[in-house]
Amino acid sequence: MSQAFQIAALAGDGIGPEVMSEAIKVLRAVEKKFGLTLKITEAPVGWAGIDAAGKALPDATLALCKQSDAVLFGSVGLPDRDPTIPKEERPERAALLRLRKEFGLFANLRPVVLSKALAHACPLQPERQGDGIDILVVRELTGGMYFGQPKLTENLEAGGKRAIDTMVYTTAEIERIAHVGFRAARLRHKKLTSIDKANVLENGVLWRDVVTRVAKEYPDVALEHMFVDNGAMQLMLKPTQFDVMLCENMFGDILSDEAAALAGSLGMLPSASLGQTTGERTFGVYEPAGGTAPDIAGKNLANPIAQIASAGLMLEYSFGLSDAANAVHKAIAKVIGDGLRTGDIYIAQDAKARKVGTREMGDAIAAAVSV
Ligand code: NAD
Repeated sequence: MSQAFQIAALAGDGIGPEVMSEAIKVLRAVEKKFGLTLKITEAPVGWAGIDAAGKALPDATLALCKQSDAVLFGSVGLPDRDPTIPKEERPERAALLRLRKEFGLFANLRPVVLSKALAHACPLQPERQGDGIDILVVRELTGGMYFGQPKLTENLEAGGKRAIDTMVYTTAEIERIAHVGFRAARLRHKKLTSIDKANVLENGVLWRDVVTRVAKEYPDVALEHMFVDNGAMQLMLKPTQFDVMLCENMFGDILSDEAAALAGSLGMLPSASLGQTTGERTFGVYEPAGGTAPDIAGKNLANPIAQIASAGLMLEYSFGLSDAANAVHKAIAKVIGDGLRTGDIYIAQDAKARKVGTREMGDAIAAAVSV
């Protein structure tokens, strides 16, 4: 019997439905080529959820996610509608943050790949791009300063206010994200750069100690430590030195966006948010790094690659199907190599480039998977 997997496909708002259709198209090509059974069920989320069932994450959508092996997520939120409802009911908070919490998604993985063919889209000079940039930022997603208590703003008797955020990490939290980082490095170029601020922060000292200890279980992976300020600078000076960057929550938030800028367009960047591995499988939510792009929604202009590459990450991290995942990533590289470009990565001076729409890009990638 063929291997079977349940996927909840939550397209969301703006360009979400357009790019999701292309990702599903590519998954159907993968299913056929590798003899898999992919049960893909679509459900509303974000404003689509509010319009259909009164909530950004309708109960039926959450139930579907719970029955599924992984969630392929589009993006949610509409800037003209979001301010019309209370903050806690808005799509990003009520749907995305809720999903993260519900499924204990503590690890966020963001691969940043810049191929030679897209060198023009990178803000760095060509000599700094080497043979291409290929970095995986592994960010801790549920701890650190964003969630530590106390978190408050208080009035001072002498006048003015005082705001407090608290940075907290436990050994166990650092260990589990370090294992994700080392396991990922093992599947890549076997180098892990751990980012901290051990010269100033107690958290940094503990982070460095724990990562150094976990590294002993991965003798085949080279570990280096780097202060976050230097890490931010090195990303601009010599991004080719990095393979996996392991970061706590806030540092990862900032550095992953900085690294993303190297790829030239948000439309190219996938992400994976992973929970605890149980048995063979790891539950995850897979989504493009960008938002709903209302400026181009419904016009067949969006780049579907971030959504399609997110589906590729799902095949790899949640289903353990490395061959199928590689087929998707290779197909993306092939169509880019052939010169196909959506508007966000197109420049007229490139003689080989051919401007295409969302659907044509999806068709070409699905066709490249099938050969
Ligand atoms: P955005 O990422 O939607 O758009 C920023 C720019 O990038 C726009 O010019 C857009 O056209 C472009 N872009 C993004 N994805 C693209 C793609 N696939 N192809 C081509 N171009 C692309 O960010 P924003 O405008 O700040 O936010 C719009 C809405 O999306 C807001 O409501 C915001 O809250 C929401 N948002 C949602 C998520 C999410 O669901 N994870 C993430 C970020 C923003």
